[in-house]
Amino acid sequence: MGTFDTLVIDKDIPLADLVQFGLACPDGHAQRGELQTKDIGAAMDRYILTRDPEGALRLYGPSEKSTRDSVHYRMEHGAPGVVEVHRTRYAPALLSTTLLAYTHCEDCQPLYFERPAEAWSGLASRELFVEFDLTFQNGRLVKVDSTGNGSRADLRAHMLKDGVGVLPDDDRVVKREIEAWKRSRHED
Ligand SMILES: [Zn+2]
Repeated sequence: MGTFDTLVIDKDIPLADLVQFGLACPDGHAQRGELQTKDIGAAMDRYILTRDPEGALRLYGPSEKSTRDSVHYRMEHGAPGVVEVHRTRYAPALLSTTLLAYTHCEDCQPLYFERPAEAWSGLASRELFVEFDLTFQNGRLVKVDSTGNGSRADLRAHMLKDGVGVLPDDDRVVKREIEAWKRSRHED
């Protein structure tokens, strides 16, 4: 349990292009970070999803030629130091399959709810879970289907139906939490 591989979405891909490919949450936010999947090998490897020279989105996986080198240097006061430089080479991953990949939307504000009385008191939060079926043909991304549980509003409705005390976004304490959430994102 618990192992997965990471699909890193290349930060150079314009957000509008990601939305066009279907890599967006139900509220339309491009998913530009990292997705997780258990459907490749769940070996805690990193894969990169980026454009190939023809402009298609293609999956690249770690190749055998990764290297780890120690580089010696002098610290400011002259003492010797060592930096470990880890280079990973990525080669096209020629998969023809559909992978279930998931993440949390970084742009949907979390929903805040009151914890049940018997648990720790105070507020808890839940982020919007986003899930896709990514279909690859010879490593090229050819189809993206959103398979998640819906939008933030859907999640709120679902939680309320389950009896979770979700607080409105204009609640005084929630507003403060959301401000802190916004600040923490800008620090990244
Ligand atoms: Zn979103």
